[in-house]
Amino acid sequence: MTFILGLTGGIGSGKSAASQWFENQGIQVVDADIVAREIVQKGQPALDQIQQSFGDWVLLDNGELNRAALREHIFKDPTARQSLEAITHPAIRSSIIQQLNAAQSPYSILVSPLLFETNQHQLTHHNLLIDASEDLQIMRAAERDGQSVEQIQKIIAAQMPRSEKHKFADDIVLNDGQLVHLYDKLEPLHQHYLQKAQQYQKSAQP
Ligand code: ADP
Repeated sequence: MTFILGLTGGIGSGKSAASQWFENQGIQVVDADIVAREIVQKGQPALDQIQQSFGDWVLLDNGELNRAALREHIFKDPTARQSLEAITHPAIRSSIIQQLNAAQSPYSILVSPLLFETNQHQLTHHNLLIDASEDLQIMRAAERDGQSVEQIQKIIAAQMPRSEKHKFADDIVLNDGQLVHLYDKLEPLHQHYLQKAQQYQKSAQP
């Protein structure tokens, strides 16, 4: 396993933009959101477990997960959310570990909006927070997703507050300018991570 960087930030903070930049530098990125979708695809054990636990109504006619119905169900019933997460979280975690283990780049990245909230930072060696004011988060996410301000505010309210995330992060990049400014801030960090990865590699050798 190589040195693993955790990359996080609230909705619209610019974590995908940052993660794309690292990928362009040849760094392999595992995206927890993508993994979360992969593990409930047709034929995956987690989907069978969800069906057994909740009933056949969680499946669409084509056998795929009825996300909208399940979302509505867990929204109304917090214990149902816990039951669902008891199935999905371990499956997500083991798939993330598998993919990080397979990474071949000098270091690898786990990008996750809920890195700290779901203890995924236990899998990482160092954490980078992409940060932006709530106004910027709302503006960017509204433009990207076409969601209403109220919807985005709800999502922000459900995420860990920025001030709390600051406590967990080793590095913080304020993404308050143009994208090129974000990239300018990421470049020295990338060099720093390459060095840390080298040190990690050396210390891991017998
Ligand atoms: P996240 O993954 O954290 O939700 P994104 O990286 O998808 O956020 O950024 C949200 C939207 O804002 C995207 O459309 C992205 O291209 C845009 N964006 C991000 N950072 C900037 C920036 N510094 N300047 C302009 N647009 C930005």
